[in-house]
Amino acid sequence: MQIDEVYITNANFRKIIYNSNTNDLDLQGEVYERSRLYIFNKIEKNDLLLTKEFFENSEKFFNDIYIPIKNLSDTYEWVYEYENQKPSYHNNKNCKKLNSYFENFKIPNGIKDQGKEKIHQYRKWFMDNKYLLDVDPEIFKKRLYERFNIIMHNIKSLLIKNSGEKFQKNYKVEDLEKIIDDIIRKSWRYFFDNERNKKILKKYCTKTYLVNTKNQIKENNTGYSEEEIREVLQKYAQEFKDPLKEWLKEYYRVKFNPDIKVQGRLLENIGFRPCSECFSFEERRDDIVKSISF
Ligand SMILES: [Zn+2]
Repeated sequence: MQIDEVYITNANFRKIIYNSNTNDLDLQGEVYERSRLYIFNKIEKNDLLLTKEFFENSEKFFNDIYIPIKNLSDTYEWVYEYENQKPSYHNNKNCKKLNSYFENFKIPNGIKDQGKEKIHQYRKWFMDNKYLLDVDPEIFKKRLYERFNIIMHNIKSLLIKNSGEKFQKNYKVEDLEKIIDDIIRKSWRYFFDNERNKKILKKYCTKTYLVNTKNQIKENNTGYSEEEIREVLQKYAQEFKDPLKEWLKEYYRVKFNPDIKVQGRLLENIGFRPCSECFSFEERRDDIVKSISF
């Protein structure tokens, strides 16, 4: 079968990036052309530039840059994960499996405890009954009990909206530039707000990871205590740096490759397979034969 351009979900794209070995990378370039940003360290910059490259030039990304850490595999935690432990790519932009990526559902512990086979059954069952979560959760609960003998009190706890949620809106490039510029402006305002912020951020703005360490902060000649440093950095990370990273990634997608289209053969090389929903049996035959012969 000739595979041309196919689609993948935002979640699977994130997994590709997440599973990339970025330790040895030293990517060059600006993370944001509209203004130079000095607030990211090498790891953060690699992560952003890697994402940018994926959207801007996926061929180059896969051929020259991408080093997978390990095979992408099923964690059996989620309803929308991999079929047969392999992520799918899609032929049809409107495929329902492709468009389920803004939300995901935890597999209830009662199912997980019963093993992989039950998990597969549950995933299948869930697809047929998911609509009840909105229409009539009580019937969902009842059917869940009848089919799997599980009582779920709080159905809502199953739903996890992933971090892509805030991006559901169809932003234009200009909208995103406005949002990003605004965060940058506010981060500068925070920087210049007082002497303490200025001194601490000048020295440690690329080291916001210090917030999560218990070790002594090295070479602290700011005149401020570690507690104060952590406090300033925490606010800086939470309100500016972390949102900036998320918005920049979304910006790259919208700007370069809004539908997350990639050459199918590049994805096959890293273990993706054709989606059973939007590829016909004929089209998947090679893949099916391959999986049987193993
Ligand atoms: Zn599909």
